[in-house]
Amino acid sequence: MKRIYLKRGKEESLRRFHPWIFSGAIARTDDGIEEGEVVEVLTADKEYIATGHFQIGSIMVRVLSFDNETIDQKFYEHRLAVALDVRRCIGVANRTNNNTYRLVHGEGDNLPGLVIDIYDKTAVMQAHSVGMHMDRNIVAEALKSVMHDSIENIFYKSETTLPFKAELGQENGFLLGGSKEDVAIENGLKFHVDWLRGQKTGFFVDQRDNRSLLERYSNGRTVLNMFCYTGGFSFYAMRGGAKLVHSVDSSQKAIDLTNANVKLNFPDDPRHEAFAEDAFKFLDNIGQQPGSPTYDLIILDPPAFAKHKDALRNALKGYTRLNQKAFEKITPGGIIFTFSCSQVVTKDNFRNAVFTAAAMAGRKVRILHQLHQPADHPINIYHPEGEYLKGLVLYVE
Ligand code: SAH
Repeated sequence: MKRIYLKRGKEESLRRFHPWIFSGAIARTDDGIEEGEVVEVLTADKEYIATGHFQIGSIMVRVLSFDNETIDQKFYEHRLAVALDVRRCIGVANRTNNNTYRLVHGEGDNLPGLVIDIYDKTAVMQAHSVGMHMDRNIVAEALKSVMHDSIENIFYKSETTLPFKAELGQENGFLLGGSKEDVAIENGLKFHVDWLRGQKTGFFVDQRDNRSLLERYSNGRTVLNMFCYTGGFSFYAMRGGAKLVHSVDSSQKAIDLTNANVKLNFPDDPRHEAFAEDAFKFLDNIGQQPGSPTYDLIILDPPAFAKHKDALRNALKGYTRLNQKAFEKITPGGIIFTFSCSQVVTKDNFRNAVFTAAAMAGRKVRILHQLHQPADHPINIYHPEGEYLKGLVLYVE
């Protein structure tokens, strides 16, 4: 196995089991290491410290093991079996009214670069590192052996998640099976999953618990679901007894998906309408036309406004602007579910942005709940960067 040698002292974070090695920590590498190869990492004293996937870029090694193990199918089987046990323990992998969950959440499951979501009989697998892409076939074999007949299809989807410069010839396609059945169930509600063209693995599985909470707040309310994508929050609101639900997304494809999903659960239900519009414009227009609806439950779940640290300031301004508009428009006694899924935006950053928005709108606001990612998106205690989703439920007087 090829080796990588660290600069003196640069093993400290690895002694605390942090799974990333940045390029600045590396003194030298053996010749001819290929991207995606499994490498052994040694300290300046030539002592073994970790094994991981090598990649060109700022994170050069993603650590798979600190125990000098061979990275083969057995290794992946073991990691996947633990991941499955965690999901059984949470209660998402063994419920009759739910067959949608995240089985592998990258570093959170000690498998950096790998995401696997389960939709009934189909596993959708994404590689976020070249190494995981290289290992996709043994991961798929391991997955088959761990899941037995509970899955029949494995769809591999990494076209947009890998560094395109690596020219890996990545493709989206089935590694097992090929069923076109695309309806899955979350907490008893049905939805279509578009593995091929949808964002992420086709559905945002990370909002399951927060959608359930929203359901409890929906009875008798007029609901506005901003950035609805496949309409997850909308059909929960309808089951919760909402008077009216409006879903908004700038993408027509998302609106079509939302309409299809609402129809699956509530055919011919006149309470729902969806609009392909910009969220900011839609908020501005509320209350401008006589007779147009006002809302007393608003969901704001925008895409990550900051993907990198240098975009943080502008992202925070974006969150403030968006939340301010919602505070200005929501009727008294209204509830706002507001989220940020930007990893670089901390809980405090986000709360500050929302606080500024509330103050600018001059509303009295109480925090009722502080929300986060669900347990099937676990955070590796040694990798705090894995915490990304945060939300607030607010009562607006
Ligand atoms: N709330 C969704 C996930 C939201 S993903 C769920 O529960 O599944 C973010 C969505 O925001 C995407 O569908 C994207 O099309 C949409 N979007 C991005 N910019 C937008 C804008 N300016 N106005 C409205 N929608 C936007």
